[in-house]
Amino acid sequence: MAYLADDNRYEKMSYNYCGTSGLQLPAISLGMWHNFGGIDNFETSRALVRRAFDLGITHFDLANNYGPPPGSAEETLGRILKKDLASYRDQLVISTKAGYGMWSGPYGDGGSKKYLTASLDQSLERLGLDYVDIFYHHRPDPNTPLEESMKALDMVVKQGKALYVGISNYNAQQTKRAAEILRDLGTAFIINQVSYSIFDRWTEDKLIDTLAAEGLGGIIFSPLAQGLLTDKYIDEIPEDSRVASSSQFLNETDITTEKLTKIKELHHLAQNRGQSLAQMALAWVLRHDSIASVLVGASKVSQIEENIKTVDQLAFTADELAQIDKICNLDV
Ligand code: NDP
Repeated sequence: MAYLADDNRYEKMSYNYCGTSGLQLPAISLGMWHNFGGIDNFETSRALVRRAFDLGITHFDLANNYGPPPGSAEETLGRILKKDLASYRDQLVISTKAGYGMWSGPYGDGGSKKYLTASLDQSLERLGLDYVDIFYHHRPDPNTPLEESMKALDMVVKQGKALYVGISNYNAQQTKRAAEILRDLGTAFIINQVSYSIFDRWTEDKLIDTLAAEGLGGIIFSPLAQGLLTDKYIDEIPEDSRVASSSQFLNETDITTEKLTKIKELHHLAQNRGQSLAQMALAWVLRHDSIASVLVGASKVSQIEENIKTVDQLAFTADELAQIDKICNLDV
């Protein structure tokens, strides 16, 4: 039977303007870095996307290299769009990126105009789309003039292949310079995608203020520290978890005794607030006005269902914020 989206989906989510742009993003977006590759079960990936959309998640985030194999997450979303979501295209915000190594030789990595424009064409082909909503430069490239990478972003907007552009993993100074260049070009530059969580605070040193000053929105990746900021690792390492998988980005050595103690204390604090640790960790990131959305990954539908309930309780008392910092051994 053809998929029909839940009529009440927009009542379950809150939406935030992305910087000073007119584009609103759901407070919770779905990231497709893990669990959407060619190696994953297609029906599971499809169920995650459909449930997310039914719960008001309108934004799906990709990159050229997501898989494995690289490119296959875009193909998976392309198949799901075709099967289920084609008639909802105008209700979806789909993003992709280029910047990490994608194909061999000098033109498949970095920030050259040659790489970025070819990569977006390939992404559109895999997605089966004429345009993406947001196209990002995935990381700063010290070997390419920033002007060249930004002009490539400007070009894809003028060509109609992306509606808006963004940068990812750029620090405060790089963000400011990118904004100057793109403002001069008149490009629809709206967003920086960076990591931030209770355990990962680098953005607090200038970047969050820079986003606000430049009228940009922030979208946060790994807000759950890849799953550590949930209750899943408190008693054991579940067999079906990212830590137990062959992920090169998260493994057992990341769960030190010290970290586990912090996780338990944070879990206790979240329970006192009447929410799960995952929900508290997401709300904590969303407390900044300049952060439009958190990009959450999921391996199970139940995780998406738990995570979207974050929007029911976003407020923190000063005392709760101080307790979180204290648990993290930060000065209060
Ligand atoms: P998270 O910190 O949200 O971690 C997601 C993982 O945590 C899930 O896959 C799942 O792992 C676990 N999880 C999620 N919700 C729950 C829950 N309620 N209870 C228990 N476990 C839960 O984010 P990611 O690290 O996955 O990153 C999110 C997205 O950000 C990516 O998909 C990608 O789109 C983007 N990203 C961008 C980067 C960039 O350089 N721009 C870099 C990295 C990510 P499990 O498998 O253990 O169930």
